[in-house]
Amino acid sequence: MAGIYLHIPFCKQRCSYCNFHFTTNLNKSYELIEAMIKELVLKSKLFQTETISTIYLGGGTPSILNRLLIEKLVNTIYNNYTIETQKLEFTLEANPEDLIEDNLKFWKQIGINRLSIGVQSMHPETLQWFNRCHTVKQANLGIEKSTQYFDNFNLDLIYGIPIQHHNQLITTTQQILNFKPTHISSYCLTIESKTHLKHVLKQNPQLIPTEQFQIEQYNIVRTLLGQQGYMHYEVSNFSLNCFESKHNSAYWLGKPYLGIGPSAHSYIYPNRFWNISHNQKYIADINQNKSYYQKETLNTHQQFNEYIMFALRTKRGGSFDFIEQHFSKTLAEETLQKLSKLDPNDISIESDYFRLTPQGWLLSDAIASDLFKV
Ligand code: SF4
Repeated sequence: MAGIYLHIPFCKQRCSYCNFHFTTNLNKSYELIEAMIKELVLKSKLFQTETISTIYLGGGTPSILNRLLIEKLVNTIYNNYTIETQKLEFTLEANPEDLIEDNLKFWKQIGINRLSIGVQSMHPETLQWFNRCHTVKQANLGIEKSTQYFDNFNLDLIYGIPIQHHNQLITTTQQILNFKPTHISSYCLTIESKTHLKHVLKQNPQLIPTEQFQIEQYNIVRTLLGQQGYMHYEVSNFSLNCFESKHNSAYWLGKPYLGIGPSAHSYIYPNRFWNISHNQKYIADINQNKSYYQKETLNTHQQFNEYIMFALRTKRGGSFDFIEQHFSKTLAEETLQKLSKLDPNDISIESDYFRLTPQGWLLSDAIASDLFKV
């Protein structure tokens, strides 16, 4: 089981909170996709014995990409990799304004079977404040139209937004639930450096959301989704039965994946690779057969830290046996000792397994850093 992630670094405009790698200039999209095609072919050698069970077209905004270019990328994957056709999860990230009939038909026809739609909010002022391209009306029409073509789809939601108060978050969540998505990703707003949002909050510090406000909003979302039967299976992810994101779950399970495109990361045990985050340089380096990525071999401590970080973020949790077998008995004992000191409301320890509770997930970063080996 292995995955491929394709990073399409183009967006129509810059959302105020976003620090992903992308450009709003699409002039070089043809050259960039040609370079990604070369990278796909080059990297196929690394995956000769692997079967691809997930493909994820993310970004940026892949839904703005010219159909011919998407088709070229997809054909390159089909022609150079072994695909688990019966069980393939093939996701495309789309923004609501791109969910028009012709696009939906085309995406379905090329094999995409899951959409991840960036709704973020159903509160008009929040969408404007975020500088999103779409309106609430477009989100409603686009999602409605998508359901005619895709029965497996994720809706993204952001909470902890200072201008979206509790009752507006409740309305947003209920409106999202009305579409009965199979999956909901719900992220707490983070204030990233070098974003417009960071600048706005520097000028208006009274708007900086408090931790208490964000915890209350986390609980609102979790409660509303839980009442509708959504399983909270990772800090930021909820799904109906059997609709967990296979692609993201593979990251958390340490399965191999290839990241294609500028800024994309790859992992093939025990190595991690990350591509250059610069479109022009990426294109030039690939075309001139120069190195376009950096590589790091994870040492045992780094592997343990990764295991802990992912184990603490998921409902699946971690296993003391696994730690003993893959690392050492001492490390397994030390981990048990540290976890046993936590508040039982934050963690459950059952025989070989440990799992943070949804309340404990709020502390997962602090707990993880206490367990990390350096
Ligand atoms: S559309 Fe997505 S990737 Fe593009 S700027 Fe907005 S949040 Fe960032």
